Amino acid sequence: MRTIIKIQFDFLHSRVVYYAYEEKEKGKQHKMKCPYCNQLDTRVIDSRPAEDGNSIRRRRSCDACGKRFTTYEKVETIPLIIIKKDNNREQYNRGKIENGILRACYKRPVSAVDIQRTIDRIETKVFSLEAKEIPSSRVGEIVMEELKNLDEVAYVRFASVYREFKDVNTFMDELKKILK
Ligand SMILES: [Zn+2]
Repeated sequence: MRTIIKIQFDFLHSRVVYYAYEEKEKGKQHKMKCPYCNQLDTRVIDSRPAEDGNSIRRRRSCDACGKRFTTYEKVETIPLIIIKKDNNREQYNRGKIENGILRACYKRPVSAVDIQRTIDRIETKVFSLEAKEIPSSRVGEIVMEELKNLDEVAYVRFASVYREFKDVNTFMDELKKILK
């Protein structure tokens, strides 16, 4: 999940000068620009919780110009919004995917562990789209891709509900595709 760090610069004894928003991606080293010389050669020399209790105060030092500055960082999680068919929005909910998959896997030889792993993979794909809003149809396609590898019957069940097969022919076409 992508988070935004809100950075508040506090130049020595002067008041807040400006806010900067920097995006931090999982696993990537976060680089802070020096507010004096704009170089990225800065280091954290001290980190501690800020007095307000919900941000982190970091004392930083710039290797390029030697100046020091303080940042206050607050992590804000961006909620993922799903755009439904009727264009209404709702917050992403893992439980909904889980219910759909459990229904599709009913009485199939699929273990609970495999189902959870499948949902984990689906979530990784959904979140790596790095969008704030994702159409439910895109999520449905991802679920189908993963179900195809999990259990063919579950896949056909899910697809038949999801794609709303109008007649036997489209259903058979879909079946033939996976039985190839
Ligand atoms: Zn500098």
